[in-house]
Formats: sequence, structure tokens, C-alpha cells
Amino acid sequence: MAVDQRTELPAPPEPLPGPVVDTHCHVDITAEFSGLDPDDALARAASVGVTRVVQIGCDVGQSRWAVEFARTHPSVVAGVALHPNDAARLGVASRSSLADGLAVIEALAPDPRVRVVGETGLDFFRTPEAEGQAVQRESFAAHIAFAKAYDKTLVIHDRDAHDAVLDVLDAEGVPDRVVMHCFSGDEAFARACLDRGAHLSFAGTVTFKANAHLRRALAITPLDRVLVETDAPFLTPVPSRGRPNASYLVPVTVRAMAEVRGIDLAALCRALDENTDVAMGGSWPTWAAVA
Ligand SMILES: [Zn+2]
Ligand SMILES: [Zn+2]
Repeated sequence: MAVDQRTELPAPPEPLPGPVVDTHCHVDITAEFSGLDPDDALARAASVGVTRVVQIGCDVGQSRWAVEFARTHPSVVAGVALHPNDAARLGVASRSSLADGLAVIEALAPDPRVRVVGETGLDFFRTPEAEGQAVQRESFAAHIAFAKAYDKTLVIHDRDAHDAVLDVLDAEGVPDRVVMHCFSGDEAFARACLDRGAHLSFAGTVTFKANAHLRRALAITPLDRVLVETDAPFLTPVPSRGRPNASYLVPVTVRAMAEVRGIDLAALCRALDENTDVAMGGSWPTWAAVA
């Protein structure tokens, strides 16, 4: 029988020498996309050293689900937000539905299982029209205010909008903890984000042949500001690019990152694990500790 490359999950990699955290994934979307059950996703991830995950919501329904999943799974913490493209769709259709959506996100944010307000930010690739971009700026500013009000980590989605993201951040004031998720800029943009205190989270895209600029950005980022993520089910690292992603594939990206930086794999794992606790406002139980 022919294997469907779009839905067939890649084989698990060698386990890592120490625990790391997938700082950004969507296990609910992964389940729809590849059929990988969320509980299996956590178990498979833990079996290769990915002992904790941050589950990110992109709309009201997903954000509610993320909080519930984190409540029932101690190795998981949640992010709540309207994704910039969802915010644009809502706000262009009706300003009051955007306001309603933001009110739900604000009501979810104080929950102790919620560590993250995000993913929020700007996506000028999928939202090219000015009206949608104006709504995205408004929604981004609202999420920045929530992160500050409830002392949560701001997780930023930035697609083709580097300068505009910095403009909004500077205008609103940078929260205490900021993560540039799926970092997509060059060295200069990395420095601009680092100057504002951000952690840079690298995804499978850092393994793509064309993305030498990401590897240069990773190479100049201080070791204590580096994070790793999948953004599963998207952005699967080479050599499984094009197939579904999941947290158990984090080791593929971590190995590529260790090579880029020329450092010992175990040392990088230790740094990634410790950096996550700083970036996410403290530790939480690992899968092994709760299994
Ligand atoms: Zn994103
Ligand atoms: Zn995402």
C-alpha cells in the first residue's frame, strides 16, 4: 500500500541525552491532521526526552481546549490567544466579534495553567490587506496588555512583519517575558529582539537548506536566550519535511541546532530546559514525574 507522505508520521529519532521542552505546539490540530492522539503525542515525546510541552490556542475554542488539556495533563501548560489571522478575519467581519473573542481570552488568561498569552502578533503574509493588518495591530496590542496585566509570557507570531512587530511592541511597552516563536529573521532582527529582552524559539525551519539566515541568527543568539519548538503539526524538520510534525521530532531540530552552534548536545539540552523555565515564568512537572 502506498504511504501518504502528507499524513504518515515520521519514525521516532534517537532519544536526547537530557530533557527539553517543546515550547510551542498544537496537539489538537495535530490530532486532526495526522490522527496522533494528544495523549500519545505526549507519551511519544517523553520517550525521546521531550518531557514537557506548551500547548498553544489560536482561537476561542482552541484556547479553552488548551486550558482544559493543561488542567488534566501536569506536563502541559497552555497559551491562549486569537491568532493574528483569526483576529483579522473576526475583526474585518465584525468589530464586536473581535471584542467578544478578546474578552474570552482575557477571562482565560489568569488561570494558573495558562503561562502564555499567544500566539499573537502580525502575519502580513496571510493577511496582506490593510484593513486586516490594522485589526491585527489592535489585537496584538490587546494581547500585550493581557500579558502584562496577568504576568504571562507574550508569545509572538511574526510572518513577514518584523519591523511592524517591533513598532507595536515599542509603542505598547515590552512585557517582562517575550518569546519570538518560530524565529524567522536574520542576525540584525535577532539582535533587535534580544535587545528587547526576548527569547528566540527555533523551529524545524532552522534545518531547511534555504534558511542560512536562521542558522546565522541562531549562531549569534546568547545560549541562555535560545528555545526550541515544533509548531506541530507544521514545519517538520529535514529530512521529514512535508510530513506531519509532532513534539517527538524535537530531537531532530535540537541536534541540528547543536551542530550550528558547535556545542555538546547534552549542554544544549540543559540550556533549553533551563531557558524554558525562565521564559515561561517558572518550572512545571515533567511527564516522567507525573506518569
Ligand atoms: Zn505561529
Ligand atoms: Zn503556532
